[in-house]
Amino acid sequence: MTLDSLIPDAAKREEGLRREICTIGRRMYERGFIVAAEGNLSVRLDGRRILTTPTCMNKGMLGPEDLVITDLEGRQFGGGRKASSELAMHLLFYRMRPDVNAICHAHPPTATGFAAAGRGLDRALLPEVVVGHGAVTCGPDLLTAFFRMETIEHSAKITLAAEIAGEPVLLSSREVAKLMAARARYYVSSPPGGGGGLPLTSDSGEVAEDRVTLTRNELDILIEEAVRKDRARK
Ligand SMILES: [Zn+2]
Repeated sequence: MTLDSLIPDAAKREEGLRREICTIGRRMYERGFIVAAEGNLSVRLDGRRILTTPTCMNKGMLGPEDLVITDLEGRQFGGGRKASSELAMHLLFYRMRPDVNAICHAHPPTATGFAAAGRGLDRALLPEVVVGHGAVTCGPDLLTAFFRMETIEHSAKITLAAEIAGEPVLLSSREVAKLMAARARYYVSSPPGGGGGLPLTSDSGEVAEDRVTLTRNELDILIEEAVRKDRARK
């Protein structure tokens, strides 16, 4: 019998999770998602206990013994340090979402900048994300929650880079019509269900809805394509 086999599974699991919180905390700090004593991390230990980071400490420099255990109401069980006041937000997630086993809260600067400017990251926003004061991500495990935090910041950086590089340029309705006609030439079929309608164009505001201007040649191509499809059906 080895010494390791005498340690109960629950204790081994807790030890592993303690180390994981320290590792992810270090990654968050190194990635610049948190500075000083900002941010907090937590995991669900079992049906009634949460393991979380302490308040007033740098989350990139934690040791496994610095972590705190509380119940789902925030009452502290163990650990010499005090849990973060932001733990209440984590507990709300755990009570509402039984599928959530881990939570990250950080202030990734680009994503937080969008929030501070009162702007959502509409194209980048994940359903798990709450961007108000900083960002909160959750997941079935801590690594997933961390990756979601990385994804938010990465998306925010791309959005910002696109805006610095210039306004996104939409195609005109005339260009869209040309592309639609070209689809027939290249035998590109519409997606099942006929696609989601025409895309938004740069001049959508000026032309009546569903009205497209075509040259004679483009119209001929569309008619030919319709006739060809009709024949193929018969
Ligand atoms: Zn915060």
